[in-house]
Amino acid sequence: MEYPQILGQVREQVADVVGGGRVADYIPALAAVDPGQFGMAVATVDGAVYGTGDWRVPLSVQSVTKVFSLALVLHADGEAIWRRVSREPSGNPFNSLLQLEQDRGIPRNPFINAGALVVTDRLLTLTGDARGAVRDFLRAEGGRPGGEPGGLAGVGPSIDFDLKVAESEAEHGHRNAALAHLLASYGNLENPVADVLEHYTWQCSLVMTCEELALAGRFLARHGTAADGSRLLSRSDAKRLNATMLTCGTYDSAGEVAYRVGLPAKSGVGGAILAVVPNRCAIAVWGPGLDESGNSVAGLAALDAFTTLTGWSVF
Ligand code: GLN
Repeated sequence: MEYPQILGQVREQVADVVGGGRVADYIPALAAVDPGQFGMAVATVDGAVYGTGDWRVPLSVQSVTKVFSLALVLHADGEAIWRRVSREPSGNPFNSLLQLEQDRGIPRNPFINAGALVVTDRLLTLTGDARGAVRDFLRAEGGRPGGEPGGLAGVGPSIDFDLKVAESEAEHGHRNAALAHLLASYGNLENPVADVLEHYTWQCSLVMTCEELALAGRFLARHGTAADGSRLLSRSDAKRLNATMLTCGTYDSAGEVAYRVGLPAKSGVGGAILAVVPNRCAIAVWGPGLDESGNSVAGLAALDAFTTLTGWSVF
């Protein structure tokens, strides 16, 4: 089956669940998003991109950015980050404070908020501008093949911060502030709490389309090779990043996602999920309605249908 056919069938199969779940409302600016939208894009390792539905509609990427900040830190700093963050599934909600105290300030993994705050802190030390580094990376990798800028109808890069979302989260981000202060109390932040929170929150507010997100995630299907052919991650680190996505990328549903989908995947509360089929393609799906763990209901159903149709689960 060709990609357009696969995407057409996936879209038919998920029609019933599009609009299902609940849009995240703990960040008030996200609550305004139309829950009936659904998009899916596939970027293949050899440069083709396919999409269906609202695949060119800008969306709030939120926690999916955690993959890219970690990739940048691994690229610049090697293994050192693993002394400050573990890589075990947490089995707890993404913004939980419980384990951080039990584990004396070492977050369970880089894809829950506590771990991502540590990664952002390191990226801030390494670059002086963590949010800018993530945005620039997404622009470089998420542009269309042939150097065309990403974004709607090639009008220029749509990949940018959403000030409204960033401010809305900053105003209501009490749990992230609590996590950052707890990390600082254990000596696991290098920069002032306020700076780390600001860069983390802005990074989460980045807006891009499914098309751009799939393109940006393609290096994970290409064993760490960036869009321009340069090496972003070693083969080992790319493999390890995929492994961490599989075990920790969908919060306390990682087991269920491995069972249903069988791909490394990272979700965000904006309703996007980035998934990787090593050697073949990166997939971005989006549906704003979330399940109880904070994963897109339509997005998971689409990935489930995709791996069932193609047989491309990593298992
Ligand atoms: N910005 C969100 C937060 O920190 C990201 C969470 C998510 O997407 N799971 O709460």
